[in-house]
Amino acid sequence: MSGDRSYRPETLAVHLGLAPDAETGAVVPPLHLATTFERDADGTYPRGFVYARPDNPNRAQLERALALLEGGREAAAFASGSAAAAAVLRSVPAGGHAIVPDDQYHGLRTLLERVLVPAGLQVSVVDMSDLDAVAAAVRPTTRLVWVETPSNPLLKITDVAGVVRVARDAEARHGAPIAVALDATWTPPPWQPAFGLGVDLVVHATTKYLAGHSDVLGGAVVAAPDARSVGDVWERVRDVQRLEGGVPSPFDAWLTLRGLRTLAVRLAAQADGAAALVAFLVAHPGVAQVLYPGLPGHPGHAVAARQMASFGAMLSFRVHGGVEAAMRVAAGVRLFTRATSLGGVESLIEHRASIEPAGGPTPPDLLRVSVGLEHPDDLIEDLREALAAPLGDRP
Ligand SMILES: *Cc1c(COP(=O)(O)O)cnc(C)c1O
Repeated sequence: MSGDRSYRPETLAVHLGLAPDAETGAVVPPLHLATTFERDADGTYPRGFVYARPDNPNRAQLERALALLEGGREAAAFASGSAAAAAVLRSVPAGGHAIVPDDQYHGLRTLLERVLVPAGLQVSVVDMSDLDAVAAAVRPTTRLVWVETPSNPLLKITDVAGVVRVARDAEARHGAPIAVALDATWTPPPWQPAFGLGVDLVVHATTKYLAGHSDVLGGAVVAAPDARSVGDVWERVRDVQRLEGGVPSPFDAWLTLRGLRTLAVRLAAQADGAAALVAFLVAHPGVAQVLYPGLPGHPGHAVAARQMASFGAMLSFRVHGGVEAAMRVAAGVRLFTRATSLGGVESLIEHRASIEPAGGPTPPDLLRVSVGLEHPDDLIEDLREALAAPLGDRP
């Protein structure tokens, strides 16, 4: 299976280290619903499985596939992206401090505010597109830096290798390990080779691109291929997974694995669609601004071009006419679905300010788009019509 690493991403995604089922020859993995597994007469478990909370064959296949795709050492699958993220954030030991971005995924920001900070986690919120701000936030007790790039929904770009450098400098000064975790939900492999940028942990909401069909919730944490000591962060993540049991069901793991097998072709087509949509939006007089790191005028473009293999298929745009105009465009689409989430085969549009907690940085005239697999010209036509609806014409 390790030989698979030399395959190109398209090939890797299709095979994922899987072989036909040894017993039946079935070309897709069987679903294992058993919660418990037989011991041998001598008391051992020669097949490796004991009980379904710590491990399950479908989850094990998914974890191997995710580690292979990211080029990591191993992966831990969770019941949601939030559960995966929480396992990492909670790996910070008592008295420890974490640095998180100011426009972090709002669900995680709320988790920090309502649960983790009240439980004692110390957190600094910084603008991570500014490396000096990251460096200034470091304390002797810092144990974790959480990175999300491009950010949601402003598509701000963080220099990941730069943050890793800041963390390593601080480690050298303070003599304690600082784990750098990247929420790579928006940048599944091969869009941004996370471990090549030096991070210790990659976190995914597999709910989004990796599963890819808007039909299964899941999350994963992947450990870097090197055995660099980041304290006992990885062991804590595993402990949270196996001891608390916030794990995907066998069928969730199976569905996610099935989604992964078309990942490479989905991503390529979605990125092409996004580029076409961006070109249309930039030229449209009703559009005030397009937020997409592939645009040369984007403040993070140079860094994005350096660290991303593709600029992805997420974009936001701001319309002239404020919140009313934005709501009118969202109301006027027929092909796009008005819904939150991202990364599925169907294109979604969302007025972010009305789903996020009040007081956040998202402008009221902003619409976020997840580009799916429809023909780009059909998506462009749909937006052209929605943008053309006269002001005041509210459905
Ligand atoms: C959706 C998402 C999450 C949370 O994933 P869930 O599966 O919904 O819990 C975390 N981070 C980012 C960037 C996301 O888009």
